Formats: sequence, C-alpha cells, structure tokens
Amino acid sequence: MEYTALYRKFRPTDFSSVIGQEHITTTLINQIKTGRVAHAYLFTGSRGVGKTTAARIFARAINCTATTDGSPCGKCPECKALQKENLDITEIDAASNNGVDDARELREKVKFPPVNCKYKVYIIDEVHMLSTSAFNALLKTLEEPPAHAVFILCTTEAHKLPATILSRCQRYDFRLVARDRLKALLGEIYDKVGKSYEDEALDYIASAAEGSVRDCLSIADLCLNTSGTLTAGEVLNLIGAGDFDSVFELVCKIAKSDFSSSLKCVDALLAKGKSPAIVAKDVSSVARDIMLLKTAPDLFRGTKENKNKIVRAEKDLSLDYLVTVIEIFSALDAELRYSVSPRIVLETACVRACKLAVVDLSAISERLDRLEKKIASGVVQSVAPAPSVEPKQVPQNAQKVWGKVITEVRKSESMRIQTLVGNHSDVAIAGSTLVIYASNENYLEFCEDAVINAISRALSSAGFDLKIKIEKKVGEIDMDEEIIKIKRLVGNSVPVNIKR
Ligand SMILES: [Zn+2]
Repeated sequence: MEYTALYRKFRPTDFSSVIGQEHITTTLINQIKTGRVAHAYLFTGSRGVGKTTAARIFARAINCTATTDGSPCGKCPECKALQKENLDITEIDAASNNGVDDARELREKVKFPPVNCKYKVYIIDEVHMLSTSAFNALLKTLEEPPAHAVFILCTTEAHKLPATILSRCQRYDFRLVARDRLKALLGEIYDKVGKSYEDEALDYIASAAEGSVRDCLSIADLCLNTSGTLTAGEVLNLIGAGDFDSVFELVCKIAKSDFSSSLKCVDALLAKGKSPAIVAKDVSSVARDIMLLKTAPDLFRGTKENKNKIVRAEKDLSLDYLVTVIEIFSALDAELRYSVSPRIVLETACVRACKLAVVDLSAISERLDRLEKKIASGVVQSVAPAPSVEPKQVPQNAQKVWGKVITEVRKSESMRIQTLVGNHSDVAIAGSTLVIYASNENYLEFCEDAVINAISRALSSAGFDLKIKIEKKVGEIDMDEEIIKIKRLVGNSVPVNIKR
C-alpha cells in the first residue's frame, strides 16, 4: 500500500482541528452560521500554517446544509456530492496555471451555476504567481462576480498582489503556530500511529518546524523511520547538528560555483531521507545564519561550534551572494509543492545559484582588491601593454599552442575554467612567453590563480615550456555596451548614469 504522508493523513476536515488560527476560524464560523458569505477572500501567511486547509473546509462548509459548529457535516447530500465528484469546488495552482488564458477560462466557467451545491468555490493557491494579464482577467471577474461564486485566494506573499485585487478581498492573516501547539499535535499524532517517543524529541521537532504545521509533520514523517522509542538524539541526528555541516558545505560549494560538488551535496542530503522542501529551507536558514554573523552577530542562535565554522569561512561569502541564495531557496516552496519532480526543481535552483555566484559583484570587487595587491607585489604584471610585444608577429604558432591548451583544459579542469579559457582566442607568443589578451570583461577572472594555474598545467602537459602573461585587450570602449553590461550585473535596481 502506498504510504500517505502524515501531513495528508491528518489534514483537518473541520475548523476545530485547525490549530493556531482561532482568530480566523472563529470569524469564518460566524459567517457560516449567519450566512453572510463574501465573494472574495484572501488567506495569507507563512508556508504550511493551514491556509489551503482552511480554504477547503470553508468551501465545503458554505455548501453544507447541516453544518455542526460551522464545519461541514460530511453526511448531507451536498457534502456527499462534494466527496464524490467535487464539481463545484475547484482548486487552481497558480504556480503552474499562471497565464492569461487560464484566467480567461476561469472567467468563462465561473458564469455557469454550481452543479450540486449553493456556491461554486474557486481556491487559487500561490495566487501571487499569476501573471499581470492573468491578474487583470481575474480582476474583471472579482469586480462583477456571479451571485453563486466565491473566490479564496491563498498566498505566502500578499505584498506581491496588485492593490486592485487586495481591495476586493476580505483579508485573513494566518499566524505561525506556537511551538507548544505543534508539540501537542505531534504527541497526538504519534500516539495515533503507535510511535513511542521521548518528550524532548518532540521539543526538537517542534522547534525545527519554525511555526509550520506542514514542516513539523514532514520532519515527524522522517523520524518515523527510526525503530523503537524516538529519542532526542535521533531527532538531532536527523535534523540538527549533524546536518548543519552538510548544508553549510553545500552553501560554500555554491559560492564557489562548483556545480558538480554542490549537486553531490544535494544528492547526499536527499539520500538521508529529507524532502527537497526541507533541504531548500535548510539552505536558506544556514545562509541566513551566515548573514546574521556578518551583520548582527548578537542575533545568531546557533551553537558555538557552528559559529566557529562559519567565522572561518564567511570571508569568502559576500552579503550579496547570501541574499541571492536566501531569495532563490526560500522562493522554491511554492514551486516544490506542486512539482511532480521536486528533486529537479531543487537541483535547478542549485545550478542557478552557482551561476549567479559567478557574477557576484562584491566577490569581483574583493578579487579586484586581491589583484591590486598582487600587482603591487609584482606577482602579476600590470595592465599596461609591454612595448616589445607585437601580437601579430607569430599568430600561427600561438594559435596552435592555444588550441592544445584548450584541449588539455577541457580534459581536466572545472566547467567554469573551461568556459573562461575556451572563450578566448586572442593570444600571441613573445619569446618564451605566451601572452593572452583578455577582454575588459574577463580580465579579472583571467588573472585569478585558479585560471593561471590551469593554463600553466595545460601548457606543461602539452609539452610547452612557456611563461604566461595576461594583458588587458586594448581597444575602444563602447559606452553603450558598457552600460548594458553594468546593468546586467547589478540588475535594474541600481540606476546607472554615466555622463558622456
Ligand atoms: Zn453537510
């Protein structure tokens, strides 16, 4: 028999089982009792706190003809009809149906009256992911809804919704669930499934969930795999101290744009039985820890041991990069919930973060500092072109040598170095020196030790005894192109005004 996750198995079907949101459920129950149902609701709040669950219960309750305490009875003809075919309650996942066509189709369908019940309910999950044109189409429906239509929009990010939509909805803000409520729920559920536990074990699970019922039960699921009584030590092993190292390693690998090692880290984390959603959350929470230690160390709540590890490595991790990682991985939640292949979503995010780490501006500026020091100490030659070198003197040989360098680099170097080296062909030989003319854009990367070492290794494996000199390609700077490049690097958030 297929295993049903605890979160699905114990999903509440009446308002009294929805925990931690009494400020909302009380109001909804009153509306049901008095029959004053609005046309549009907005349920907003963190991940896994019960927005969709409450929407489902409410959708059934307003259609039930014999509600008990405001919750659906499950026995009347309407409740039975909804259990069977459910033609009148439609759940739409806006993460994957976000186009204007989807919104138009909805607009057409909503006109038809409900089949079995009083209300036709549309629950639109992750509604902030709709496109602008889809919002406009939805707005037209919300402006003049048919009497039988009820919309429940659910989102973790209400601030991304247009004001025009917000103003048409009754808004309900779901709260994070308190730790003791989560703990009590865990105890109840473990008792029901016959899992014995140490009291302290539940404390750790409830803390790790950070207010999310879904995360709490997903960790509880993971802990079910242990045999006998669940101990606090086992929980810590599964979620806590042991894992910090693996996640921290992943964050560092991504920062180094090491595609291969970061995907291996992901693989190792998933192999431990963690869900991709938990891994994504762990990554953003470790990135947050590092960010805190860099900016507001007093707020750091981790162990001393972890703190020491971070302090040793944090110099290589720029704030910009950390913010990028937090943004990428915390935005995954919506996508992961509906994806049929969450693993691929997580891996893609990893690769995306790796690629962004390459163009991390502050890392480039840190590299520039290091480079300037090197130039000052004479390790790398300065950018001024040496007068003795005439690039076009022996182009044939230089090209041949470079061709072999590229072949060697492709055999044994990282993807990033392969790309950097492979994209260049402007080389010359002057005496016993291979001169490489790097473009303005790539100059800094080319001067990096890793690149120089890779070229030097390639030269010696190809049997050449040549020194390496990197020079900046001299040429006219196209201002427009420069501006475009800078904008691409910094995004449109920073206005780039260059006076000409
Ligand atoms: Zn009923």
